[in-house]
Amino acid sequence: MMTNAAWLLMIPAAAAAGWLLGRRGGEIKSGNQVTRLSNTYFRGLNYLLNEQQDKAIEIFLQIAEVDKDTIETQFALGHLFRRRGEVDRAIRMHQSLVAKHGLSEDQKTRAVLALGEDYMRAGLLDRAETLLNDLVEMGVFKPQALRHLISITQAERDWYMAIEYAQKYEEVGGESMSKVISHFYCELADQARSKGDNKEARKLIADAYSADNQSVRAGMLEAQIELSENDDAGAIRAFERVVRHDYEYLPEVLPALLASYERKGETTRARSFLLEMTEHYAGVSPLLALSELIQKDEGVVAAYTFLAKQLQQRPSVRGEAALINLSLSEGHGDPQEALRTVKSITDLLVVHTPGYRCQRCGFSARAHHWQCPSCKNWGTIKPLLTSAS
Ligand SMILES: [Zn+2]
Repeated sequence: MMTNAAWLLMIPAAAAAGWLLGRRGGEIKSGNQVTRLSNTYFRGLNYLLNEQQDKAIEIFLQIAEVDKDTIETQFALGHLFRRRGEVDRAIRMHQSLVAKHGLSEDQKTRAVLALGEDYMRAGLLDRAETLLNDLVEMGVFKPQALRHLISITQAERDWYMAIEYAQKYEEVGGESMSKVISHFYCELADQARSKGDNKEARKLIADAYSADNQSVRAGMLEAQIELSENDDAGAIRAFERVVRHDYEYLPEVLPALLASYERKGETTRARSFLLEMTEHYAGVSPLLALSELIQKDEGVVAAYTFLAKQLQQRPSVRGEAALINLSLSEGHGDPQEALRTVKSITDLLVVHTPGYRCQRCGFSARAHHWQCPSCKNWGTIKPLLTSAS
């Protein structure tokens, strides 16, 4: 993709080149016309520099229309039309270029690519696909054409073709598509699963894993299939794998995973997995789940002791609420001791809460600054309303 400014700058260049060619080509323009043209040109350039793109486009359209015979100008115009959303005009412009005699091989294929892009924009995906496929077979503009073909087949949800194009795109030196390809296989697996064809779905999940062996989605699909077949052991394996691939998915899978552990009576495995997670996942959910399991196995005091110790290292409000519940439940001995623990965790929470925030950019700070260190505005950092104020 060209940046806005980069391709807009092509327009005056193309128009100016066309104008020069026109002059050299013996079509002598009158002095007046040249002056008018260059005045218009500089007016357009001025708009462009002042970032008034709409007005600039108007002007360059006027220039380009004076210069209809130059091929580069027609390319530039076609770009302009498409950019302004006038896809029909862009299509007509590029169609006439494709049909034109005397174009170089390069100009011809560029026109085909541009026409393909117009068709895409117009939603004429079949036509776009045909043209872009031609380019791939001719071996020109392969990466661009394949990238377009991938997005067309995605829009058509034709995942097998999307996979094929993505693999070709990788072969011609585009960036790695393994994660994307893995998602395409997951789309297919999901379709098979919802049709009740679990065997096919499992095969496609294996394909998804071979494209991306860290795929979270493949693991989630696998777990769903195991659950639908009442195979809790399989679901546990799949869920644990998902979370080990990406710890941030822990809260997403935890309720279903805990239910599977419970149905299988796998308390020991559950406890060791959750303990492993407390090392990797900063949130409080594995702690809370673990303390519930400890309470069931060893009673309130053991759960309380575990949770109190963990919350000293990672204080959290939800954790504190669970701790208070434990201290209020039957069988917990010493209310004085519980209050002292809650007090010390609350102190930690107050220290951890930032006291000031910039109202302009959202920068938060523990100490007050008159000038925001982030957005450099003065007087925008104010004390926050916190539990301490
Ligand atoms: Zn700021």
